[in-house]
Amino acid sequence: MENNRLTMRDIPSIECLLGLLINQPELGNFSHDIIVDRLRFVVNEARDKLRENQVADVSLNHLVNRVKSELLTLGSCSLRKVVNATGVVLHTNLGRAPLGKSAVHMVNAIMSGYSTLEYNVTTGERGSRYAHVVDKLCALTGAEDAIIVNNNAAAVMLVLSVLAKEREVIVSRGQLVEIGGSFRIPDVLKQSGARLVEVGTTNKTHIADFEQAITDHTAAILKVHTSNYRIVGFTAQPDDKALVLLAHRYGVPLVEDLGSGTFRNIEVNGWHEPTVSECLASGIDVVTFSGDKLLGAGQAGIIAGKKEYIKMMKSHPLLRAIRIDKLSLASLEGTLVDYLTGDVCKDIPVQYMLSRQSDDLREQACTLANRLQPLRSYGWSIEVVPLISHAGGGTLPEVEFGSFGVSIMATDHSAAMLEKALRRNSTPIIVRIQAERILLDVRCLAVEDMVIIEAACNGIAKGEIL
Ligand SMILES: *Cc1c(COP(=O)(O)O)cnc(C)c1O
Repeated sequence: MENNRLTMRDIPSIECLLGLLINQPELGNFSHDIIVDRLRFVVNEARDKLRENQVADVSLNHLVNRVKSELLTLGSCSLRKVVNATGVVLHTNLGRAPLGKSAVHMVNAIMSGYSTLEYNVTTGERGSRYAHVVDKLCALTGAEDAIIVNNNAAAVMLVLSVLAKEREVIVSRGQLVEIGGSFRIPDVLKQSGARLVEVGTTNKTHIADFEQAITDHTAAILKVHTSNYRIVGFTAQPDDKALVLLAHRYGVPLVEDLGSGTFRNIEVNGWHEPTVSECLASGIDVVTFSGDKLLGAGQAGIIAGKKEYIKMMKSHPLLRAIRIDKLSLASLEGTLVDYLTGDVCKDIPVQYMLSRQSDDLREQACTLANRLQPLRSYGWSIEVVPLISHAGGGTLPEVEFGSFGVSIMATDHSAAMLEKALRRNSTPIIVRIQAERILLDVRCLAVEDMVIIEAACNGIAKGEIL
């Protein structure tokens, strides 16, 4: 092989390459040190290849272009918009809840300048960042008071640290949940300094199991929403009313980690997701839930419930370490305003997507299929198909939302090749593969997403995107 004749000495010197790079206008303001660092990386890569007798292009031109491309990648944003054609509404890897217009408007208004974040314009004194959303949350949920932190994991940690440090927390064995990303209830309890007391069995826990476990050391009873799994068959958990009565008879708070915490009553195929208001109305003392799951706002953890407990959270030192930032707070306030004054199923994207009906979904799938019709001339088959979508994000597991979409099969590309090409589009398009076809579920597609899909498919068919 010709490559075998190349040796280390054929690699141009750093000085020589640097001289060529320094004056490249598109590298604008990259510092000398950063350019040299990337240059060394590229040269070392070439050396390693030669050392391992692999094919390596060590021409000046190639190496300069490699460094340029490394620098341009470094200088551009990797976090970017994608088109979610998976039908999974709260896709954890794709950023969970997209924000509604009011939330986006609020974030825009707050992010580039100063704001009333912790300033009370009526008194001219220091204000509370929580004050912006507490009244709204209380009005929407019936809570006496609330506090907001960074996410629900932090909310659970704060509640347990405040209420149960060095004391016992009783949890049913059927609810010792692991949510993705290493959030496991037994570990969170341990970290907060509380001692876990497991009661009942995996499938059945009775009220008597809780009662027998209550001692002088009991700090709280914790209920955990089994967000991402369901125990079916011969199962039992005491209802909220009975647990509330028991907890209060012994003077211990009943806390619930609700996970997603919906405000809107969601009924699908006989499944009813308990709302935050229902939980609080049943007498549960403190509930925690996420801002960016079914609520449809930005990342946040909301703790709502009885004044006496929320007050204790407000003065705990952990609060400062996990406090919500102003952009998430702005998105939460904008979203809450929509819940109070807007049309929830229109204005909150997550709720809109979950409440879409089959006629509407079928019509959108037909529109998308029509746009893609010209691809038939390349031998592609384009069909409107019924699909099943899921809420995702560890919410409403097993609940199937009937949906529609477009299935594509190309004669000149395998489904895996198509999926990869769409994923590598300038705006990545994320799809599912089933039976050698790619499936585009329309549930989460905006009108502008359909234009992106059409352009990408045309590009792939013409061989412009690989
Ligand atoms: C999702 C979830 C969490 C974690 O919430 P984040 O907002 O992602 O931190 C905790 N508990 C339950 C039951 C959940 O479903």
